[in-house]
Amino acid sequence: MSIARIALDVPISTLFDYEAEEPVSRGQRVLVEFRRRKQIGIVMEVVAQSDVPQDRIKKVIRVLEDCEPLSEKLLDLLQFCSDYYHYPIGPTVLSALPTRLRVDKPLAKNMRQGFRLIRDPSQLPARKTVARRILEELVKKPCALPELRRLAPTAGAQMRWLEMEGWIERSELKDAPSLPAARLANAHRLTPEQQQAVDQVLQSSGFGCHLLHGITGSGKTEVYVHLMHRILQQGGQILLLVPEINLTPQLEGYFQSRFPEVPLVSLHSGLSENARLQNWQQAQTGEARIVLGTRLSVFAELPSLALIIVDEEHDGSFKQQDGLRYSARDVAVFRASQSGVPIVLGSATPSLESYHNAEAGRYKLLRLTRRAKSESRLPKMGCINVNQSVMTEGVSERLLAEIGARISRGEQSLIFINRRGYAPVLMCAECGWMSDCRHCAGKMVLHLKDRKLRCHHCGSQQGIPAACPGCGKAGLHPVGSGTQRVESLLQARYPDARILRVDRDSTRNKHAWQQMREQIHANEVDILVGTQMLAKGHDFPSLTLVGVLGADNALYSADFRAAERLFAQLMQVSGRAGRADKPGEVLIQTAFPDHPLFRCLKHHDFDSWASQLLSERRMAGFPPFVFQAMLRAEGRNENEVYAYLEKARDQAIALQRGVEVFGVVPASLARRANHVRAQLLIQAKSRKLLQQFLRDWRIDEIPAGKLHRSLDIDPMEF
Ligand code: ADP
Ligand code: ZN
Ligand code: ZN
Repeated sequence: MSIARIALDVPISTLFDYEAEEPVSRGQRVLVEFRRRKQIGIVMEVVAQSDVPQDRIKKVIRVLEDCEPLSEKLLDLLQFCSDYYHYPIGPTVLSALPTRLRVDKPLAKNMRQGFRLIRDPSQLPARKTVARRILEELVKKPCALPELRRLAPTAGAQMRWLEMEGWIERSELKDAPSLPAARLANAHRLTPEQQQAVDQVLQSSGFGCHLLHGITGSGKTEVYVHLMHRILQQGGQILLLVPEINLTPQLEGYFQSRFPEVPLVSLHSGLSENARLQNWQQAQTGEARIVLGTRLSVFAELPSLALIIVDEEHDGSFKQQDGLRYSARDVAVFRASQSGVPIVLGSATPSLESYHNAEAGRYKLLRLTRRAKSESRLPKMGCINVNQSVMTEGVSERLLAEIGARISRGEQSLIFINRRGYAPVLMCAECGWMSDCRHCAGKMVLHLKDRKLRCHHCGSQQGIPAACPGCGKAGLHPVGSGTQRVESLLQARYPDARILRVDRDSTRNKHAWQQMREQIHANEVDILVGTQMLAKGHDFPSLTLVGVLGADNALYSADFRAAERLFAQLMQVSGRAGRADKPGEVLIQTAFPDHPLFRCLKHHDFDSWASQLLSERRMAGFPPFVFQAMLRAEGRNENEVYAYLEKARDQAIALQRGVEVFGVVPASLARRANHVRAQLLIQAKSRKLLQQFLRDWRIDEIPAGKLHRSLDIDPMEF
């Protein structure tokens, strides 16, 4: 008999001891009873004895054998995450797994499915040439679909027909999958810069972190693809991390088309539970050679991992904002070093953290400074000074005229505004009443399409009042602009124009976005009005004008990263203009056309911008020159929230560890859904100092009642 020390999904920083009657091993899934509920846990250690008294120790109910144990490497990675992010080991381990592995429901057997012949192939009609070729292959031995695809790209459809007609049936394959032919389709001849980047990554052996800094359209993807090709030829698996956008299916299609015979799976939150499990298992068995996914895929099992790529490494969606608040990019770098493999972080606008690491020589910098297609030029960038322009509902006449010119030339325009709804607030001209949310410290947004005031923080909504709730007069009017208002203004100005609004409201329906993309590509749209959803990764060949509204908001923001993000976003959105043979133009409406941000943007000069920001950050003592942790608390009772944080602050100061302890302050949204929110920032000169401090801080021991607390290491939002 032995003792299994088990990770369970409970918010306590410890493992739980259970007695195991059958042999168990590290990484195995087990079913146990905890607080009178059956739960799935993961065995983290097997030991001979427990400190728990014999009569209190329960038995493992069942060892689940329907899935391979988690690997040592993955368990070590998760342990690292639990330590680094100071998050309990149990929830860390369990949250990294597909949901289906966290519940007690038998798994379908993870067999490698193939097909075998059940009828004499010579009876097949002669005109079925492709089907015949497939059957001839199956005469030799049962095969999996990817292997058959090598014979014929249409094998999938053929197999369905053959199965229906009773020629073949599904069967389990016993032999290990043969390594696929790693054919790269439609390969471009690399430009010298691209070639150099590829060579640099492949030359270094073992772990190395490479920052691929390439302007939009410089062909970073082509660099990835060539790297992947080499790694696939050597029999390695590849992890490709992409931002959380509704583009994953398109990207999956794209990379599959470049490697037609290579099994590729995706992992993202849009998959059904079963699909996610299946894909996860295919990565685990090594059948899938490429895993493409959003941040959660950084925890996929990859027995032959040989390369990690993080595309758009600066993107905010790599940071998880609840539970285990990990940065998938940072975890990926750790994982690469743990596995001794290269990692490539790609971006046109690297995060200052990565850029600084490259400057300091910790990462190797690879640059792509030219567009890959010689005929394609970078867009022309300019500002429109809103203080010197005739404005209609927040849009300048100049921009309106430029849009009109595009319509008459049959080209597309994109108006980018990072606010959905009609107007961010409804206000009374008589008494100054504003549409405050009753439950939050924010304003209710006016949505004219469905005649509602809606809070984007807590989701509460109400009808639009007919008269001012403050003074009873009829002086209510919208202030500021959102996507809906811009759409209706443009429609009024250009009644015949075909306008498409793309934001979270208009794409709620699952297939809406896909349909919209098709409309845009078919040139059935003249003007696009949209939020950041439109900024990323799309290629719209007829788009020649990008207009940017509301950019100045970021310049006023209290978050020191707001300007960094704005620059990245504007670079990205401007990358949408003029990607084909038509030159593009970007016009930004601003009250500060001389701001360094816009000056650098005009010259496509990321380096000047980054070095300015970095010297500001160095002087002000902000990341990446310091390392931060944020303790947040929220609850219904204001006193409790502040008392808790003050206590934590006292403890921090008493430790005297040379870390900087800031004051307790309200969160940027000080109240949400009737919960008061506040925070406490800790800052240290080195990661090590911060980690040592956090280990000794012991905030778990401060009574917190019903407060919701979280500790955020390397926080991204303030
Ligand atoms: P990025 O991701 O850096 O913005 P892409 O990878 O999308 O750039 O490449 C931009 C365009 O250039 C794509 O249409 C791509 O097919 C093309 N391209 C990339 N590399 C080459 C090359 N070496 N020769 C010709 N065209 C290329
Ligand atoms: Zn009023
Ligand atoms: Zn609210």
